[in-house]
Amino acid sequence: MPRLLLLMTTTTYRASAFLDAARRLQVTAVVGSNQLQALEALTPGSTLTLDFFHPEEAARTITAFAARYPLDAVVGVDDDTTLAAAMAAEALGVSHNAVASVAAARNKHQMRQLLAAGGVPSPRFACYGIDDDPVEVARQLTFPCVVKPLFLAASRGVIRADDTKQFIAAFQRLVALLRRPEVAMRGGALAHQLLVEAFIPGQEVALEGLLTRGQLKVLALFDKPDPLDGPFFEETLYVTPSRLPAAVQAAIVACTTRAVQVLGLREGPVHAELRVNDQGPWIIEVAARSIGGLCSRTLRFEAGHSLEEVILRHALGHDVTSCERDLHASGVMMLPIPHRGILRAIHGQEDARCVPDIEALSLTIPLGQEVIPLPEGDRYLGFLFARAATPDGVEIALRTAHARLSFVITPVES
Ligand code: ADP
Repeated sequence: MPRLLLLMTTTTYRASAFLDAARRLQVTAVVGSNQLQALEALTPGSTLTLDFFHPEEAARTITAFAARYPLDAVVGVDDDTTLAAAMAAEALGVSHNAVASVAAARNKHQMRQLLAAGGVPSPRFACYGIDDDPVEVARQLTFPCVVKPLFLAASRGVIRADDTKQFIAAFQRLVALLRRPEVAMRGGALAHQLLVEAFIPGQEVALEGLLTRGQLKVLALFDKPDPLDGPFFEETLYVTPSRLPAAVQAAIVACTTRAVQVLGLREGPVHAELRVNDQGPWIIEVAARSIGGLCSRTLRFEAGHSLEEVILRHALGHDVTSCERDLHASGVMMLPIPHRGILRAIHGQEDARCVPDIEALSLTIPLGQEVIPLPEGDRYLGFLFARAATPDGVEIALRTAHARLSFVITPVES
């Protein structure tokens, strides 16, 4: 039975989807994670504790492990683990992306530099230090702009500013986030810098793809029909297939193809976010991983395979280039956190589930826990899933169900 190593942080949303996929494919899955696994001593060879903040060290631990328990593939399931996965895979000689390409996709400044040098449409940008004076920096800018960290995900710390006053507030707010010990540790040197970009107006889309020997296969193109104009950029709705005209979709695919070539990504999943306006598509970001949260549940492939099964089969060397997606319209709403406080109750759950075309409601924060909205927060209240005859039907179902939910969030007592 093939053995593969799944690298995931303890806070990942992606664990059960990948473990289920491994089970269905009848491969042995070893979990490499950043905290000591309770069962590590009892089940040797099934788990591995790794320090993802030091990917070279994590890769060495993996190579030593593989000497006893040979590995056929190493898959980093989320942003914090892709680099260690590429390094370990390189050392073991199993299928992987070039380490430098994965590193560039993890560093938004480096990604912008490579995209600009490669002539791929992407926002103008400049990188600053967290100790720089925002008043001075503001003098060099044109507005509107977007301030963002180099390494965080899920729109955390991403803030739009339309004038100098808003820019100074956004800069200081992001610096405060980057100075938090847990964020500073996660980012290392990258937490000492921030990126300022031109704000690109337009409709946003997300492309889910899989690379095989540099060839991009588009698995799904999602519309993001809620306007994402800031000042914070909560991802809410993802609906596939896209309703954009075929020519625009083709331009999006061509732009993403160019971006992955310029970054040098060649194997495994990619998740790209683009904006489309009168000038065509613009790359906002390309990540060398699959879609985050529980969103992959919207996708099904032939023979009932999940996205994770397709990814694992590819990692194990199977040919998945002809694997087709079930083309039903589907979508997800990531339930945003409306304001900070303690989550006390969620009303309307049954009413929401009863909306036609709603497939599931999955709540992911237990009652009694503190919830923090963007730009500082990094969780969603949960996920709503819909499947319908048309993308419009999916969008209506998700909006109707969301309107039936109400969240009771009380102030945090100090
Ligand atoms: P993350 O990796 O945290 O998701 P992104 O760089 O993808 O960070 O930004 C998150 C969201 O913020 C994007 O999906 C987009 O809606 C918005 N955004 C980021 N940069 C820009 C930009 N330059 N112009 C317009 N919107 C942007």
